Amino acid sequence: MFDASRMTTMDTRAVHAGRADLAALGVHVPPIDLSTTNPLPSVAEGGDAYELLATGGPLPADGSAVYQRLWNPTVARFETALAELEGTPAAVAFASGMAALTATLLAATRDGRRHVVAVRPLYGGTDHVLATGLLGTDVTWAHPDAVAAAVRPDTALVIVETPANPTLDLVDIAALATAAGDAPLLVDNTVATPVLQQPARHGAALVLHSATKSIGGHGDVLAGVVACDQHWAARLRQVRALTGAILHPLGAYLLHRGLQTLPVRVRAQCAGAEKLAAWLSRHPAVARVHHPSVDDPAGLVGRQMTGTGSLLAFEVRGGAPAAATVAATCRLITHAVSLGGVDTLVQHPASLTHRPVDDDAKPVGGLLRISVGLEDPEDLRADLEQALAALG
Ligand SMILES: *Cc1c(COP(=O)(O)O)cnc(C)c1O
Repeated sequence: MFDASRMTTMDTRAVHAGRADLAALGVHVPPIDLSTTNPLPSVAEGGDAYELLATGGPLPADGSAVYQRLWNPTVARFETALAELEGTPAAVAFASGMAALTATLLAATRDGRRHVVAVRPLYGGTDHVLATGLLGTDVTWAHPDAVAAAVRPDTALVIVETPANPTLDLVDIAALATAAGDAPLLVDNTVATPVLQQPARHGAALVLHSATKSIGGHGDVLAGVVACDQHWAARLRQVRALTGAILHPLGAYLLHRGLQTLPVRVRAQCAGAEKLAAWLSRHPAVARVHHPSVDDPAGLVGRQMTGTGSLLAFEVRGGAPAAATVAATCRLITHAVSLGGVDTLVQHPASLTHRPVDDDAKPVGGLLRISVGLEDPEDLRADLEQALAALG
């Protein structure tokens, strides 16, 4: 049979991953399996499936999928494809990025290990869940250089985001994996996508995505996924089945379809973001631009990332009131949270996505974050020009 995993380039894998069996099924696109329950061949085989659930096993190859909260073939297909793009043995999909993070924290904090070392900045929701200790974790915030000193025998997880949301700071994943020692490293790869960066190749044990963003890419699916080895996948599937934060098969189908255009979308969005970053860097109303194309002190683009990414941020002179004016004056660019979609969005992190973050770690008031879509960058530039002109 045609083995998609033998293929080397990201573009080819993205189109074919998770589809190796379709020709044998006589179809060209994946079937969508909406069954909530599945016929059981026998009581004994149904019982075996429940045993498998208890240990977090994968979808039985020949047997019954039993019940949708345990397994679903459409979701499993998306997981296979995403794992192939991330270069990991497995992946486990969830109802949202936050559900994926919750499951990871629950799966990691076992046997009395509740300590988490986290590198800021992180997505506001991630920061909030760690800062509140809502899931029973105990967090130490650490600069990347201080992670080795912060790790303790009871450290369950080290968490980092690179590029970080919203300042696009880059962190050396291999160096951080070394600093983490025996503690597993979780990299939130939402902003980079597997197209630009595969953290498992640099030593990350767990690679998390809000699939709501670039993977879905069209603003119509809420989902999360964790790419990892089989050992972690078993723990995560067990948590998922018991807490119920499953991904709906229709969402999984759309995400799997989204993967096919991910490399093309990401490259075009990167090119647009680079043009805008260069233009904004020269604008008199802009104090600073954050994008790996203009700000990469450690030289990680080319070494760790194969491109710069679709997300950029910039600081307008005049602080939060000026930033609010620009966000409200954009016309083509939609004033909305989220990122990674085909259309361009602008938002004010300090007021919105990063509102719950402690004051000393909150983004500055003048910072605006732009998720660059697939529009002509010239049209985006013209819209930002008229919005910045409103500052007078
Ligand atoms: C959006 C986001 C999340 C949370 O994902 P949801 O799908 O909204 O639950 C986590 N990390 C990053 C970097 C994000 O942008």
